[in-house]
Amino acid sequence: MSIRVPEPVGPVDGTLVPRFAGESTFARIPRLDAVSDYDIAVFGVPFDGGTSYRPGARFGPLEVRTSSRHLRPAFHVELDVAPFGALQVVDGGDVACTPFDITTAMGQVETFANELRGEADDRRLIAIGGDHTIAHPLLRSAVAKHGPVALIHFDAHLDTWDTYFHTPLTHGTVFRRAFEEGLLLEDKSIHVGIRGPIYDRIDLKQDADFGFKAIRCSDLDRIGVEAAVDQVRRRVGDAPVYLSLDIDVLDPAFAPGTGTPEAGGLNSRELLAMLRALDGLKIVGADVVEVAPAYDHAETTTVAAATVVYDLIALMTNHKLGRTTGEPNGK
Ligand code: MN
Ligand code: MN
Repeated sequence: MSIRVPEPVGPVDGTLVPRFAGESTFARIPRLDAVSDYDIAVFGVPFDGGTSYRPGARFGPLEVRTSSRHLRPAFHVELDVAPFGALQVVDGGDVACTPFDITTAMGQVETFANELRGEADDRRLIAIGGDHTIAHPLLRSAVAKHGPVALIHFDAHLDTWDTYFHTPLTHGTVFRRAFEEGLLLEDKSIHVGIRGPIYDRIDLKQDADFGFKAIRCSDLDRIGVEAAVDQVRRRVGDAPVYLSLDIDVLDPAFAPGTGTPEAGGLNSRELLAMLRALDGLKIVGADVVEVAPAYDHAETTTVAAATVVYDLIALMTNHKLGRTTGEPNGK
């Protein structure tokens, strides 16, 4: 148990200040500098210089925070937890990363994440992207604290290509680089939601050679959400987990505001059901990336992304409170 003393500072009370007013932090939780210590930090990484198709994810953190105002964050019913009452959760602000150079920007992201983790044993971080390139420095930061991790990767795309226009680190190559660097535990990582055509059949073989398993959307059609989650849980076991969620895992009907949309994806309910069934896993770091608000309509994508971030906070809270593994309602 890590109940803090004094009592956690919670979000602005939605029964006193309307949700469209007050703080502009994620879910109107306190800023980092308003508390003496914290257990979980949400922060923004407004970088989209690693994007291969439609740019615009640099505005993701801003708009996901705006849509997070719609949350009523006092109690998560399905995960049976009041995360902001139990632990100190803060908004760490945005990384001030350069838009002009990928290597420099990713160094800035890594430094920022390391500073948020600080000397504390087990602060958990959730990043709002930004394009998927940012997962590389965030994985490095998680691994520096916890050792190599199991990766649960929700995405329409494998993101294990080699180079793109001769550039080694982009949003489509990030997990090959992570594998090469030894950031991932052997045979513990898994992609979920993969679909769509690829450049070459060899891509699938190489991905498998890197120790990834993939649950494609066509597999989900066959086995369903419950069996898929079962495979994910068996794959990662009790290893420390980094969960990386590209919002394009959702069908464009549920997440039009993204850079590389692919037809035939998950619906929001399937995605949330899968996430909630991961209760009990030790998720040490996470990101929600590729939200590009310029292509969104009526906050469809950003509401989905904000809800995913809130679910990740609730999952991390349950784990830190030592609640029972594998019982989604904590009963
Ligand atoms: Mn993708
Ligand atoms: Mn991706």
